[in-house]
Amino acid sequence: MALLVVNDLRTEFKTDSGRVQAVRNVSFQLEQGEALGVVGESGSGKSQMMYSIIGLLAENGIVESGKILFDGKDISPSQFAKKKEYDEFMREIRGNSMAMIFQDPMTFLNPVLKVETQLIEPMLNHTDMTKEQAREKALDLLRKVGIPSPEKRITQYPFEFSGGMRQRIVIAIALANNPKLIIADEPTTALDVTIQAQVLELIDDLKRESNSAIIMITHDLGVVAKLCDRIAIMYGGKIVEIGTDKDIFYNPKHPYTEGLLRCISNPEDDDEKSLTPIAGSPPDLLNPPKGCPFVDRCEKAMRVCKDYEPEVTDISKGHQCACWLLDRRAVKQ
Ligand code: SF4
Repeated sequence: MALLVVNDLRTEFKTDSGRVQAVRNVSFQLEQGEALGVVGESGSGKSQMMYSIIGLLAENGIVESGKILFDGKDISPSQFAKKKEYDEFMREIRGNSMAMIFQDPMTFLNPVLKVETQLIEPMLNHTDMTKEQAREKALDLLRKVGIPSPEKRITQYPFEFSGGMRQRIVIAIALANNPKLIIADEPTTALDVTIQAQVLELIDDLKRESNSAIIMITHDLGVVAKLCDRIAIMYGGKIVEIGTDKDIFYNPKHPYTEGLLRCISNPEDDDEKSLTPIAGSPPDLLNPPKGCPFVDRCEKAMRVCKDYEPEVTDISKGHQCACWLLDRRAVKQ
């Protein structure tokens, strides 16, 4: 059985202007040891989809419907009679078998606690390790993520580290209890370009060593190119295309995926002008479009796209796309 099964997930946010339909009937699966990239612009629903899974939605967010199965257990919020029970259950899961790496390490790390405390606490809270055993493991984790002189550095505070080193500490904390699933939300966005490459390489090495599954959330297709086995493209709260890295990079079917690919810089090509941003802005999810969410920005839109939502078409095993261009019933005009 797959490690994570998400079925027809729907998440909304209550606001003064109405309900924002952030995640709209999303389904996917993830196997143990697999790396899935979830790619889309801000507001596409990618982060809210993951917060729905890991139980970290903001107060006004509600998982309206859908099923989430993790490691054979039903972890859908609807399974719990009270929110408090759900929050306690998910806190335990997050400390053990699921871990999250956030975009900005400073919002995750506690500035007034030494790195040592922040590393050993999850082990003391969720395992029966002694303090000495947890400290030994913390030193090992710091070595593993490439922090030099760990015996000295473990006694320091987060502000004594550079941005890249802080993200390495966050990764070490995420690995502390050998999670089955690591969710990384834009883990390199706050870092400069050379450090970004090092952190991605580190995540790639750890993935191979640990056999943890990884979900990498990013707005940049280039980030997932090396790291991910499969890629889901999100737009307007939906997965509009999903497939292997080869499907997405060499045989993209959705016009939005094609647009994202045109935005990636090729390191062998110095011609900056070849980067073409996608014109227009994402749909308003307070009032999402009736038909295809990409219709207002799509150069290939047909009349049917405005009024009817495209169904998912199977292109090959594991490669799916929701676009009327792939549906024989569409009247092309
Ligand atoms: Fe473009 Fe229509 Fe396909 Fe949407 S369904 S991506 S508007 S062609």
